Amino acid sequence: MSNFDQLIANTIRPDVRALSSYHVADNVGFIRLDQMENPYELSGLLRDELAHRLANAMLNRYPVPSPNELRAKVCAKLGIPAGYDVMLGNGSDELISIVITAVTKPGQRTVVMAPVPSFVMYQRSAQYAGADFVGVPLKEDFSLDRDAMLKAIEEHKPAVVFLAYPNNPTGNLFDKADVNAVIEALGDTGLCVVDEAYEPFAQTSYMGRLPRYPNLIVMRTLSKLGLAGIRLGYMSAAPQLLAEFDKVRPPYNVNILTQTAAAFALDHLEELNAQARAINAERPKLAAALAELPGATVFPAAGNFILFRVPDAERATAKLLANRILAKNLSKMHPLLTNCIRVTVSTPEENAAFLSALQAPDQS
Ligand SMILES: *Cc1c(COP(=O)(O)O)cnc(C)c1O
Repeated sequence: MSNFDQLIANTIRPDVRALSSYHVADNVGFIRLDQMENPYELSGLLRDELAHRLANAMLNRYPVPSPNELRAKVCAKLGIPAGYDVMLGNGSDELISIVITAVTKPGQRTVVMAPVPSFVMYQRSAQYAGADFVGVPLKEDFSLDRDAMLKAIEEHKPAVVFLAYPNNPTGNLFDKADVNAVIEALGDTGLCVVDEAYEPFAQTSYMGRLPRYPNLIVMRTLSKLGLAGIRLGYMSAAPQLLAEFDKVRPPYNVNILTQTAAAFALDHLEELNAQARAINAERPKLAAALAELPGATVFPAAGNFILFRVPDAERATAKLLANRILAKNLSKMHPLLTNCIRVTVSTPEENAAFLSALQAPDQS
């Protein structure tokens, strides 16, 4: 086969050909403050115990298709309301895709809606599934534009609306009254996914409102809590809804190593929660130091990251890169984010390195 151009043009969808792959910066040897990872590792004792458990995992067998024990543990440890179950995913990314796949009707216009700027996978997954994505701009202060959302819901009749709470990349929590208005406007015509990837830091949740709102789905992940490497997301919703999503879920979507490591981590949740508290304690210090930078604006942050604006984000990230520090320049993502940088809150040492790189006078 020599003419791949022809082969690809004949087989691969035009919209897929036009895409670029999800880009992650080459990060070996860098201080990584661009992906909201937890900088802390498990303590030595826990690692040894985990190694033992993983060594006993039955790698020769297919994993349990829907691990009852792990689900029960998630429900018990992570505040799932009585009478509600969870569905597990290979990261919450997979759950986003499962929800969208379940609502997208072949040959009919299906709309997936989210405020913008927000988490990019909502739009990406919608496109892969063949749904139309409608993005509703946030206000200048990154609050939800309630009137615009309600108008867009009326006009486009979305099958599902995604609200990241707190929002990524802006970092803020939307006003509860605005979120409630969106869920209520959708009523029995649309689902609302409240994506709580940063709940361990925000310490506020819609989980308790599941009984009140039949169309509500609450989604979370262990990634930002310190287990990004194992890929485990979970979502809860009314059992009737979960039963439908379960039909779309690939049968062995959570592998045995992930199941084992997740069960272990939940048995030692206190260690992860303590790490989250340490990160939360650093957040206001980092925010205050950033606010001291000449011309900087720091936005309210409820997750393990801070969004801030500087006079020249290109220059600031270049200075960071020269010190082998990664943070995300979001200028190109959305006009509201011009000259905005998103930085993960990390250890006191890494935060200090980040600040001193930014504070250093410009070369030239
Ligand atoms: C990081 C993030 C996710 C992805 O979580 P995974 O479980 O690692 O796939 C989902 N939603 C939001 C808003 C995020 O920021």
